[in-house]
Amino acid sequence: MRASIDIDLDAPGRQSGRVSLPALLANGEERLITTPIYCLAQGEGPTLVLTAGVHGDEYEGQIALSELARSLDIGSLRGRVIILPRVNGPACEAGVRSTPIDGLNLNRAFPGRADGSFTSRLAFFVESELYGRADYAADFHCGGAILHFLPSTLFVVTGEVEEDRCRLDLARAFGARHCMLFGAKTMGVEVGIDAAMLRRKVIGISGEYGGSAEVTPVALDLCRTGLTRLLDHLGITPSASPFKVVEPELIDVRLDDCYVIAQTEGLFEPLALLGTRIEAGAPVGRLHRPDRPGDDPVLLHSRSGGVVMACRSLARSAAGDWLYIIGRPVAGL
Ligand SMILES: [Zn+2]
Repeated sequence: MRASIDIDLDAPGRQSGRVSLPALLANGEERLITTPIYCLAQGEGPTLVLTAGVHGDEYEGQIALSELARSLDIGSLRGRVIILPRVNGPACEAGVRSTPIDGLNLNRAFPGRADGSFTSRLAFFVESELYGRADYAADFHCGGAILHFLPSTLFVVTGEVEEDRCRLDLARAFGARHCMLFGAKTMGVEVGIDAAMLRRKVIGISGEYGGSAEVTPVALDLCRTGLTRLLDHLGITPSASPFKVVEPELIDVRLDDCYVIAQTEGLFEPLALLGTRIEAGAPVGRLHRPDRPGDDPVLLHSRSGGVVMACRSLARSAAGDWLYIIGRPVAGL
């Protein structure tokens, strides 16, 4: 029941193939689930693993990595690039966040198990087979159907000064104007793909490039240029002329008060725009109750001052839903 790959990830050249993983469906039927994988290797250099589609309702990364897999010129390559544009094939096929087969969120399923459910075995495959070979990694996300992020890179700050500096260098190379700083448990990261990178000593970043189950030109363009810049930074496909360094504004989202959470159900009316700076305690939205037309809406306030990094895309909201992420700009790691 382990994953198998029909290409040799340790061989040079340009290869495209499929990762196959058997799944037990709800009706008891066993089906072989496959997803595309590309391996491009030439000469001496580092190994970079690129993944998108961990969540199936996030599209910019799927498009940008597919384009890269088609267009990357192996003649100029120094190192190895392993690309999975749709890591979680069943979730991508259905356009949903979690795997339809077992209902699990791949980004909460790490490190996974060799004998677990489909999603658990997929996580195990990514961590052992892909990150086991990697020096560097970048994983592509966005807010999916429910959130919209200001396009930004992110990484986990571990306190290991030299490694954190290398991760920041990847974010600087990628070129997003904002970089979110996560802690060891921010947004479930401890059971996510970023924790897998850390366990395998892979220097990696992730990113939240838009959302609302849309493809926005700005976010997709950032993914495209970011990949080119990243490959140049790592020396895998050096550019003829150096890229201009974009020093990202560092945005700390580690504290609980960065998150504005609905306390009741209602229809969410956002008042604060993505990317704007707001004061602590500022009004940021209203929750309306048309089912109780006589009630005034609940006015929502920010708990911390900072930059609006994410906003809920959907009007219908339930108690516990995230409505905003408002991060604090910080001067350094
Ligand atoms: Zn995601």
